[in-house]
Amino acid sequence: MAGEAQPDCLFCKIAAGEIPATVVRETDTTLAFRDINPQAPTHVLVIPRVHYPNAAELAAGDPGAAADVLREAGEVAAREKVDGSGYRIVFNTGSGAGQTVFHAHAHVLGGRDLQRLV
Ligand code: 5GP
Repeated sequence: MAGEAQPDCLFCKIAAGEIPATVVRETDTTLAFRDINPQAPTHVLVIPRVHYPNAAELAAGDPGAAADVLREAGEVAAREKVDGSGYRIVFNTGSGAGQTVFHAHAHVLGGRDLQRLV
């Protein structure tokens, strides 16, 4: 069922504590942890604890959890002290856009110059 943990999902396993991660912040509904292959000095992933395959499906199925992820992205940026210089929140959606883990997640990137994308 939508939102339920998926046995083969890497980020469901991280959320359940079955696979270790360097956790930055956690709430009842979200978990923020460092990306294993960082692309910037700050590169933190914020996931909802509920399982949806991407951010759009999360927003449609559980708008509260989607809002929590966005709020936490801002909290992470503040905690990492990149909110002053600027940071980027990225939701890769679909393999053609580079998504490799199909559990909704926000990348929070900062701490270096980020080229404008659009
Ligand atoms: P996507 O490519 O789906 O937008 O982002 C998935 C991210 O998860 C990638 O940036 C990748 O480096 C990260 N990642 C993949 N496996 C692991 C893992 O086991 N632990 C952590 N912390 N990050 C992971």
